[in-house]
Amino acid sequence: MHKRKVRAVILGAGPAGLTAAYELLQQSEVQPLVVEKNPFVGGLCLTARAGDNLADIGGHRFFTKFSKVHDWWLQFLPLDAPNTTDTFITQNRLSRIYYLRRFFDYPVALNLRTFHGLGLKRMLNIIASYLRAKLHPIKPEKSAEDFLINTFGKVLYRTFFKDYTEKLWGISCREISAEWGRERIRGIHLREIVLSVLKAFRPKIKDTFLYPKYGPAQLWQKVADKVLKQGGEFTFNAEVVRLNTSGDKIISAVIRMADGSEQTIEGDYFISSLPVKDLITMLPNVPQNIRQIAAGLQYRNFRSAVVLLNKMLKTHILPDTWLYIQESDVKIGRIQVYNNWSADLLADRTKVLLALEYFCGDNDNLWQMSDEKFTAMAIAEAEKISLIDDKDVIEAYSFKLEKAYPAYFGSYLQFEQIKNYTDSVKNLYLIGRNGMHKYINMDHAVLSGMAVAENIAHNLQDKENIWNIDNSKYLD
Ligand SMILES: Cc1cc2nc3c(=O)[nH]c(=O)nc-3n(C[C@H](O)[C@H](O)[C@H](O)COP(=O)(O)OP(=O)(O)OC[C@H]3O[C@@H](n4cnc5c(N)ncnc54)[C@H](O)[C@@H]3O)c2cc1C
Repeated sequence: MHKRKVRAVILGAGPAGLTAAYELLQQSEVQPLVVEKNPFVGGLCLTARAGDNLADIGGHRFFTKFSKVHDWWLQFLPLDAPNTTDTFITQNRLSRIYYLRRFFDYPVALNLRTFHGLGLKRMLNIIASYLRAKLHPIKPEKSAEDFLINTFGKVLYRTFFKDYTEKLWGISCREISAEWGRERIRGIHLREIVLSVLKAFRPKIKDTFLYPKYGPAQLWQKVADKVLKQGGEFTFNAEVVRLNTSGDKIISAVIRMADGSEQTIEGDYFISSLPVKDLITMLPNVPQNIRQIAAGLQYRNFRSAVVLLNKMLKTHILPDTWLYIQESDVKIGRIQVYNNWSADLLADRTKVLLALEYFCGDNDNLWQMSDEKFTAMAIAEAEKISLIDDKDVIEAYSFKLEKAYPAYFGSYLQFEQIKNYTDSVKNLYLIGRNGMHKYINMDHAVLSGMAVAENIAHNLQDKENIWNIDNSKYLD
């Protein structure tokens, strides 16, 4: 296959980088070369092996309001294709909140099911404080706490949001920017409350989502296969450590291979999905204030105990795809029930495969502790909240995702300065979740990869369209 003359070096083989590579091949004459520090593609969308089973670390539902992205996914894996394992399946989403050892609807609804779970006194308090918040909202709305109180009222916020949000971010909701809540949390409206009370205990309408039969990496491997087939290139086990510049352009990337040797890769365009905090340390001559802001960007890590069981405690298996754990006497943030994502993740479908999920910082004991201690602690916590009995545990594995969540605190409020600086490097484009330091899902990572390919194909200098890819409004 003939090599194209102009080269784009794509840093990172996650969803954003893979999309950029694929779209450059479709839309332009530019040759993509993807550089990835891992030996595999997919980035945060990891399908890991847990004994004989597969575990989707994080639980990745393929859900988007953009038909462009939906159709793009389906060209790599068809939907409900018979007689093949290469297919998306359609899955129902049920993700309830677990609180007071009971289950509550998510998104939170002030309906009779919630009423039944919380009791009359607490429910009346919730309604009164909700109305108070609507009549007298906190102004200006600065923190996530302000946003959540204005949206749900103080009592509902304390009941269903405070503990989970603080587990996720590791700091008080008062210290998190209101922007996070506005982007990620669905509100409730008086009209919906009235309707749901009138409809009493009507069954909850389930959302559906697409899911590759063997977990999210199946889709991203398909994309990578097509990129290779169409002449794109990959270098794995290659950590980008430095970028060399000339004037206002990057001319090459220095990569460190697994054996410690370094190689220099030249290119015409550099598209980065690396955490922007790391990227800034790789560039020469960055002004001191930009270095400082980048150094102050913060993230949350993610640790998951994947546990194979004979059965759960309340029923053999819960119907949920995942549960938000609002109980304040444990540190678990969420529980995935993999059987309800795709039964094909399990070697033996009569068993139950769970992920007990935690959010932590680099220095937290949770992040530092050995795999054995971590899985034992997670199992003990799930037992404490009456979801499993450790006698039913067959095996357990620990998985870690570093920089899983870009945080909207720390130096984030000054992020605009980093954006302006990196935009001033003419042939550098930032894409993706940690690349742009945006709390986005796969669909927006895909959109950012598409946008950069379009810009390069049409020789557009302005990068604003990449920064302005829409934000979704749901929690993951
Ligand atoms: C717990 C969790 C649950 C989620 N659930 C969902 C969900 O249900 N639905 C959904 O749509 N999205 C979900 N997401 C979000 C989704 O995972 C991300 O939006 C998506 O992976 C972002 O893709 P990306 O390409 O921007 O970044 P990444 O996936 O982070 O890819 C970046 C790549 O860069 C590589 N890299 C980093 N540094 C270097 C270096 N120095 N040199 C070379 N390579 C490097 C990394 O190894 C990685 O492969 C979830 C995320 C998490 C953490």
